[in-house]
Amino acid sequence: MDKDYYEVLGVPKNASEEEIKKAYRIIALKYHPDRNPDKNATEIFKQANEAYAVLSDPEKRKQYDAYGPEGFSQRYTADDIFRGSNVQDILREMGINLNFGFGNDDLFSSFFGGAQGQQHGQDVLYRMDVTLQDVAKGVSKTISVRHVKVCGMCRGNGAEPGTRQLKCAECRGSGYVNVIRNSFFGRIQTTSVCQKCMGEGKVYEKKCRECGGKGGIVANESVQVNIPQGIGTGMRLKLDNMGDFVKGGGSGDLYIEIKELPDRLLKREGNNIIANASVPFYTAILGGEISVPSIDGMKTIDIAPGTAPGTRIVVRGAGIKNLNSSSKGDEIVIVNVSIPKSISASERELIERYRDWERKAGGHSDRKFGIF
Ligand SMILES: [Zn+2]
Ligand SMILES: [Zn+2]
Repeated sequence: MDKDYYEVLGVPKNASEEEIKKAYRIIALKYHPDRNPDKNATEIFKQANEAYAVLSDPEKRKQYDAYGPEGFSQRYTADDIFRGSNVQDILREMGINLNFGFGNDDLFSSFFGGAQGQQHGQDVLYRMDVTLQDVAKGVSKTISVRHVKVCGMCRGNGAEPGTRQLKCAECRGSGYVNVIRNSFFGRIQTTSVCQKCMGEGKVYEKKCRECGGKGGIVANESVQVNIPQGIGTGMRLKLDNMGDFVKGGGSGDLYIEIKELPDRLLKREGNNIIANASVPFYTAILGGEISVPSIDGMKTIDIAPGTAPGTRIVVRGAGIKNLNSSSKGDEIVIVNVSIPKSISASERELIERYRDWERKAGGHSDRKFGIF
């Protein structure tokens, strides 16, 4: 079960520090969740972080080599593995975003324990259904989002208004305390989050009675979302600072993920709109006007005389506006010619007369139709 860290990074057992760092950077760039949406990528990235945290630290590496993957994981927790590691610094150096989106928020929080008060609040995801009309016209919608809001009473600092916040005496305001443990390996000094102030570095004379000192409260909030023309399924709109608030770290962002509902009459292909129109056979022969569905409701289009079934009539610019430019797609009307299933005696007589006249004139031979 326990992965071999050398295998994870793809380096030999005697790899130099430089080789290990290089291998880690390549994996991080390729599998970082912001760059690689694959679910497996996140797992690979996490394993690489863990492998690097251990192999880049000479002391941890020595322990790992001595005890092997299984023995090592029995002795060290994730906190031990990441304590004092420079994984975050390296990622920052590479310009990799450390504030991961939803779903990945456990990527570091579980590893880099502590400093809870300093982390950015969580991002919030809201899934929104839109109609083809919304996409075509652009629309403003008001939604109700349940998230952690800044407490109105204390404005997010957690102290009852008018009372003081004092420096934590336990950690002298740093939020961390050094702990010396006697372990199997001897005395180990570790840094951990101050339990008195939970890493905040301060204690309250009196906690805010509205939020109990947390600085945020869970509530529904009305949010106005502007849906731009041309948006589509899977696209996300980002509303800055509308995610969950966390004391000392600010608010995360709100993401609106779009799902386009299928339309009863129209199909979207990119920015083009596809409509099917049924034309009476006499209109297909003689030409005329027909009514077709469009993003503006029903509209009239011209049918040229002699229009064959399957003809695609393009109405330029009647499609959807491009999300990032002013260009517009087209509406494509696919013509289906409807043939009546049953006709009256007088209709039959008319069509037979037409047939006989055609034969006599020799313009159209029956031979032209069908297969001989
Ligand atoms: Zn409050
Ligand atoms: Zn403290």
